[in-house]
Amino acid sequence: MWDTNDYSLRRHNTFGLDVRCMRFAEYGSVEELRGLLAELRECPVRRLLHIGGGSNLLFRADFDGLVLHSGILDFDIVRTDGDAVYVRAGAGERWDDFVAWTVAMDLYGAENLSLIPGEVGASAVQNIGAYGAEAKDIIDSVEAIDVATGEVVHIPVAECGYGYRTSRFKTKDAGRYIILSVTYRLAQRFTPNLTYGGLRREVEARGIDPVDLTAADVRRIVIEVRRQKLPDPEVKGNAGSFFVNPIVSRDRFVDIWQHHPEMPSYDAGQEVKIPAGWLVEQCGWRGRRLGPAGVYDRQALVLVNEGGATGADIVALSRAIQTDVCRQFGVWLQPEVMFV
Ligand SMILES: Cc1cc2nc3c(=O)[nH]c(=O)nc-3n(C[C@H](O)[C@H](O)[C@H](O)COP(=O)(O)OP(=O)(O)OC[C@H]3O[C@@H](n4cnc5c(N)ncnc54)[C@H](O)[C@@H]3O)c2cc1C
Repeated sequence: MWDTNDYSLRRHNTFGLDVRCMRFAEYGSVEELRGLLAELRECPVRRLLHIGGGSNLLFRADFDGLVLHSGILDFDIVRTDGDAVYVRAGAGERWDDFVAWTVAMDLYGAENLSLIPGEVGASAVQNIGAYGAEAKDIIDSVEAIDVATGEVVHIPVAECGYGYRTSRFKTKDAGRYIILSVTYRLAQRFTPNLTYGGLRREVEARGIDPVDLTAADVRRIVIEVRRQKLPDPEVKGNAGSFFVNPIVSRDRFVDIWQHHPEMPSYDAGQEVKIPAGWLVEQCGWRGRRLGPAGVYDRQALVLVNEGGATGADIVALSRAIQTDVCRQFGVWLQPEVMFV
């Protein structure tokens, strides 16, 4: 276990913000975590945050509390059932290491989610998604510890409350559980998932016949495309998509569409989803800066730390964008990134 005071979180958030926390503890096993939680029941802290790779967090300021981080690692095949192979992954594993491992082991289902930053534990909190796949499609169950009681529970996927980039761990049970491991259900037979048009077109552009496509090809293509579109947080601090794509009523949509018939949109049941990046771009924000915070020039949905930005600088930029989008389109963008 690693336990220290007054610690910089700079390497623990992909915006690269130099914020400090009062105490930081990384545990390597369930027993160590249980010990820490028992201590906290004796001597409570004002604030507690469990962090993963910090790739979906925006620290507004220093954190006057305890930050916990999982060092629970390992991938284990726990059972097979026909074509399905159940793999348990420790919450502290890097998500993309897990995806690379599955592809190398000829286990399929995670390849479309290649190169998403962060850790396995958060994949189950966030229900990460990209290129036509979501974590919930391959999660079988989540093993978690109840912070208040220390009890370990196994939650089947059907009880995780999954929706678009959300789960019960982010909503009604936020802060209640710490995820210890996630069990994924992978397939031994490869069936490419090319439901996302953009990925299908990338495959075609490379002259690969979908019949010959392998999971390693999908992983390679997804990585290439992601590297072209998104800034590497090691080079330019960012947290991926900053805003959620807004879902508006049909009336609201028609209102906007009458003035902007070129606006892209997607059906969302009774309502309509509009790409947040398009709205931001229409307001002229792509490639613009507000002090040391900016909007990525290749993707208007990504806010970046141009160097030396603070959390307050990023918040100021996000509010300026929200205000402009609201003024022009009457839609208030909601952040996908969690403000701490
Ligand atoms: C360049 C870039 C591209 C991205 N692309 C995508 C994308 O394509 N699709 C997508 O869905 N997301 C994307 N993201 C967002 C981000 O990668 C995901 O949200 C990721 O799952 C966050 O993982 P993390 O480990 O960094 O979690 P953190 O940001 O550290 O935490 C996220 C949440 O999970 C909680 N948490 C973390 N670990 C645990 C645990 N063990 N137990 C309980 N709670 C925990 C935290 O408290 C917090 O609420 C991108 C981010 C970046 C920087």
